[in-house]
Amino acid sequence: MKNIIVAEDQGFCWGVRRALEIIDKYETVNIFGDLIHNKQVVQKLEEKGKKIVHHVTGKEKKPIVVTAHGTTVENLELFRQFKLDIVDTTCPLVSKIYHVGESLEEKGCRIMIIGDKNHVEVKGIASRMKNPIIIENETELKNIELPKKIGIICQSTYSQEKFNILAGFVSERAEEVIVRNTTCSPTKKRQESAAKLAQNVEIMIVVGGFHSSNTKKLAEITSKYVESYHIETAEDLNEEWFKGKNEIGITSGASTADWIVEEICRKIGNFP
Ligand code: SF4
Repeated sequence: MKNIIVAEDQGFCWGVRRALEIIDKYETVNIFGDLIHNKQVVQKLEEKGKKIVHHVTGKEKKPIVVTAHGTTVENLELFRQFKLDIVDTTCPLVSKIYHVGESLEEKGCRIMIIGDKNHVEVKGIASRMKNPIIIENETELKNIELPKKIGIICQSTYSQEKFNILAGFVSERAEEVIVRNTTCSPTKKRQESAAKLAQNVEIMIVVGGFHSSNTKKLAEITSKYVESYHIETAEDLNEEWFKGKNEIGITSGASTADWIVEEICRKIGNFP
């Protein structure tokens, strides 16, 4: 008999839940960019008149939603110029990163943002800083010349472990460094919870959008301990993975709805 254990901390984070609740109050809106990296949840929103857009023309009549991971100051300026009604669902924990960066700049630091430079959150943070350096990994870090005084921050969903390694690397080489780990607490808890569970099961299933950075990080963490599979929906499950395995762990990214995880648990439970 299969024992399916769902991680203590997983699924929709507080910031995504909050954003969805705000959007729910509007009958119809345009959502600027990917609200969350989860096709299934986005599909449900679109069915309810909440449309994802990647450009604005100024002719839109509906309010424009800034997603939980924020946007750039340039985009905000454009929305204002077009006199669009802005519904800002930026997570307060992302706004906090803006403030941390700004206060480090006031202390004379050049900001180094550790994260994915193509991610909307990182673009939003960078747009608020004077001349930030953005790096994603050790290779990129080794190829840059470090300024004298650096303030290090990171994307809210960045891996804590990797952040510590990169921040340590800079601290050993630069003259003056101030490190602020700005990973958000729901992300920290999800990563810790996934690592703990992965050490006590025979297989881990990590659920979330294939493009979701926080889900990819979870899969990276669990695969260090046990055979792990990153899937989006129950349809991606393969019965073969579970042959001879009875202890099964499940975790999911910050934009995964409960019903998706429940469906997956049901399907695994029915495997022989
Ligand atoms: S992952 Fe963290 S920062 Fe991002 S929306 Fe959720 S709580 Fe906010």
